[in-house]
Amino acid sequence: MTLIKENITTTKYSSYNTILTHFHAAADILGISEEQQRKLVTPEKQILLLNFPVVLDNGKTRNFEGFYVIHSTLAGPARGGIVYGPDLNLHIVKAQAAAMNWKSALAGIPFGGARGGIISDPAKLSETERARLTQSYIHALNDVFTRDQRRPVQDMLHWLLDEFSILHGKSISAIVTGKHLISDKVPGRIRATGNGVSIATLLAAKKQGLSPGNTTVAIQGFGNVGLNTALSLYERNFNVLAISDINTSYYSPYGIDVRNLAAYAQQNNGSIKGYPHATPIAREDLPELDVDIFIPAAREHIITGENAGKIKARIIVEGANSPITPDADKLLHANGTLIIPDIYANAGGAIISYLEWLQNNLHEVWQVEQVQARLEEIMTRNLEDIFKYAEKHRVPLRTAAYIIALERVLDQQKIVDAWYRSAEERQEAIPFFIRETHAGGL
Ligand code: NAD
Repeated sequence: MTLIKENITTTKYSSYNTILTHFHAAADILGISEEQQRKLVTPEKQILLLNFPVVLDNGKTRNFEGFYVIHSTLAGPARGGIVYGPDLNLHIVKAQAAAMNWKSALAGIPFGGARGGIISDPAKLSETERARLTQSYIHALNDVFTRDQRRPVQDMLHWLLDEFSILHGKSISAIVTGKHLISDKVPGRIRATGNGVSIATLLAAKKQGLSPGNTTVAIQGFGNVGLNTALSLYERNFNVLAISDINTSYYSPYGIDVRNLAAYAQQNNGSIKGYPHATPIAREDLPELDVDIFIPAAREHIITGENAGKIKARIIVEGANSPITPDADKLLHANGTLIIPDIYANAGGAIISYLEWLQNNLHEVWQVEQVQARLEEIMTRNLEDIFKYAEKHRVPLRTAAYIIALERVLDQQKIVDAWYRSAEERQEAIPFFIRETHAGGL
């Protein structure tokens, strides 16, 4: 079917278009009507917060703009982090809220999807300014948050938690996940997404008959996802031959000692530039290296129709969100590349957040081994489901993953629709005079 026009932005490669393209491909296979597809891609709530004030370090007040999008609460509390960026717009935030919703549905966890966004350049703000910015944003959103209903995640959550607890006059720990260890955080949270990507990589390698010791990997990005993926793969005995960040790339035919590189970056302001134990290569060459597995873990749309034909890896595991444009996706699939889709591969953080929420609500303290075992169990089961659906519908793994997510969302929708129907039936059953009295404005 044709894409639902008002949801498509004019930019060819916007992350919103990419996510909608994947959604519609799966929805068409399931035979979902256009009206129902429109309903499923339309957010429950979009909040534009204009002009919320922040006091800067120089004492002056500056107003910032932000968004908050709740894609859906059908499955449970809407969860999603806050993004900061100078070029942020509502489309990006909407795309990420929708992706979060379908990611949770696919993972089988009882959360909906949401995303917050603040138009700002975090690099140009001091740490205290960033804290006040986040607090002011949360303050402006207080009416939207209710206990246990929304669940933003990111590394400044202690500010959010403080602000929300102040507003409510008590400590509320389950309102946010991804907290600092001191406040009911589940062990393994910081490494969760990268750890999940490494589990996905291990399972995908096994499916292709590869064992870690004989498998070569290139990883683009050395931030939260890239670094922790690289560390986990190194610990699992994979041969990580190349790693890049925004400035540079390094390659070693013997494998990079990722722990050593991580320690080097830590002492070098987070940058890998100047690392002495590997050979520098051009940053744009890394995705095209002759390795078994390529893991894009930096940003969206780095593989396009232009460079897809040059990718040599047999397997691509999407650590980043939407690293492959829809046209490149088709080309790679036609060439036989196994693509482990983002909606599954980078869901480790979302799954661990669920485990954290569960731990907080049960008032329990879990050990790192328990959390790791649950994460592996959930990711293994989900990948098996994706492969089964791909075979059943004869579609790529990405479409299969979306089909599973959509089937689960539709099941939730049926429950809610039934509830509304019975509410209407209940309304019909109310005696006539009571309805008339109510309509009279009492
Ligand atoms: P980050 O900012 O911590 O790290 C990004 C890394 O990519 C940095 O090392 C940066 O130098 C590098 N980079 C940027 N542009 C690059 C380029 N053109 N070539 C090579 N390296 C480049 O971000 P992150 O949290 O690691 O997130 C990375 C991606 O993963 C994003 O798409 C994000 O949406 C997605 N993601 C993150 C999480 C999470 O928990 N952090 C969860 C799911 C998905």
